[in-house]
Amino acid sequence: MARLRFPQLAVRCSWCKAAPRDLCTNPQTGKPRGSGTHDARRIAWVMTTPCPECHATPGQPCTAHIRGNNIPLPDVHPTRAHAAEAAYAAQHAHDQQLQIAINPDGHR
Ligand SMILES: [Zn+2]
Ligand SMILES: [Zn+2]
Repeated sequence: MARLRFPQLAVRCSWCKAAPRDLCTNPQTGKPRGSGTHDARRIAWVMTTPCPECHATPGQPCTAHIRGNNIPLPDVHPTRAHAAEAAYAAQHAHDQQLQIAINPDGHR
């Protein structure tokens, strides 16, 4: 199984149609992008986490409250991106913790 190089590889890219765990490809050259993913994919991944700022639920875009209307934003709130990254980091730390769970010096 390929190692996830970017957490957003967990979701499909709506832009270049890269499958989950596959790198995004450049549609013009057909080459995989090793330096990052399309923004649409990053946003889609961040959207798997609820937004602490506008309280968007997972799968829903961030919204701005303008003159009584909730207007969908083209990007996610930075606080939501941080929340998604923190959740991913916590998950990752948990994985490492499981590997050393038998250590008697552990906190538990
Ligand atoms: Zn892509
Ligand atoms: Zn938001």
